[in-house]
Amino acid sequence: TAELVTAVDRILAHADSARRMQVRANADTRDDAARARRLGAQGIGLCRTEHMFLGDRRALIERLVLAGSAAARTSALEALLPLQRSDFLELFEAMDGLPVTVRLLDPPLHEFLPDRTELSVRVAIARERGEDSADDEALLAAVDRLHESNPMLGLRGVRLGLVVPGLFAMQVRAVAEAAAARIKAGGRPMVEIMVPLVGSVMELHLIRDETDGVLAEVSDREGMTLDVPIGTMIELPRAALTAGRIAEAADFFSFGTNDLTQTAWGFSRDDVEAAFFAAYLDKGVFTVSPFETLDEFGVGRLVRVAVEEGRSTKPGLKMGVCGEHGGDPDSVHFFHDVGLDYVSCSPFRVPVARLEAGRAAVTLDDTAGGLAGPR
Ligand code: PEP
Ligand code: MG
Repeated sequence: TAELVTAVDRILAHADSARRMQVRANADTRDDAARARRLGAQGIGLCRTEHMFLGDRRALIERLVLAGSAAARTSALEALLPLQRSDFLELFEAMDGLPVTVRLLDPPLHEFLPDRTELSVRVAIARERGEDSADDEALLAAVDRLHESNPMLGLRGVRLGLVVPGLFAMQVRAVAEAAAARIKAGGRPMVEIMVPLVGSVMELHLIRDETDGVLAEVSDREGMTLDVPIGTMIELPRAALTAGRIAEAADFFSFGTNDLTQTAWGFSRDDVEAAFFAAYLDKGVFTVSPFETLDEFGVGRLVRVAVEEGRSTKPGLKMGVCGEHGGDPDSVHFFHDVGLDYVSCSPFRVPVARLEAGRAAVTLDDTAGGLAGPR
């Protein structure tokens, strides 16, 4: 086994020296970050901050989103800030100077709101017993107000950031304060902030203004310059098609090919596979699920357009991918071909991504005339 490990390491080292794309990992905890580094990740390409609020902490997001007054919202944000600060500090410590891309909150809201049925049963029982149920009734009304038939197309990502005052600012403050703490402890954190589900450059301008303000304030107070690039996910067809405009407000792009596949095809990421994917595979509509291997002609076309548009506005604009496709061998070749700077995938897929990025560089770039297509 030791021999095998050495042989694999040697092959991976070979691939590393050949590849042009960097390989990062998607990670949101200290353990995942450490695992990613052991497997050769050169940074975190996607920290999904909503994952930091699963389990016990779910109620904090619930409190924030359902807050009935400015005071209740402020108190929810004050409870969240120190938690986020230490979450980010842990990641910066684990990555020790390698890039960490923190994505602002992108929760499908239905995963965070209280269960409607449970609540209404509680209200009904309380009423029957003649007990006071005013709090639960108010909560139920708020849950009803926010109910969506298609939560994945609803109040998520940047939309939530724009309608819940102070939410993104709190996260940016936590990032900035954690970076400042790390610098004071002698570290050199390299942090990037990423905005999810952008479809219009206006959304990005609004968040950027808010973000720049918070970064300047923390920099001032801490007496240091915090250099934090602000980029966007490209995960909606409209974002891909208007990438030239969006690039005006972005320091980098990261393709969210999970949502881009969902929205380009009109398939639901959550439901569709069980309903008809088996039949589609059987009948040859596709040979592999487009959620697994990038659909080169549809979703891939959108990626190509966005790369060209984005770089025609900002030559050399840094671009990566952080959807699941970032760790799929065929898709990695496509991303090399289209000119991305990095792929980011689950930690356990990092070695495969390193290998395939190396193979892509050798097989595509070494072919006479260059098969690599537009850069
Ligand atoms: C994506 O949509 O591809 C992505 C990386 O974001 P998420 O999977 O968190 O929606
Ligand atoms: Mg997404």
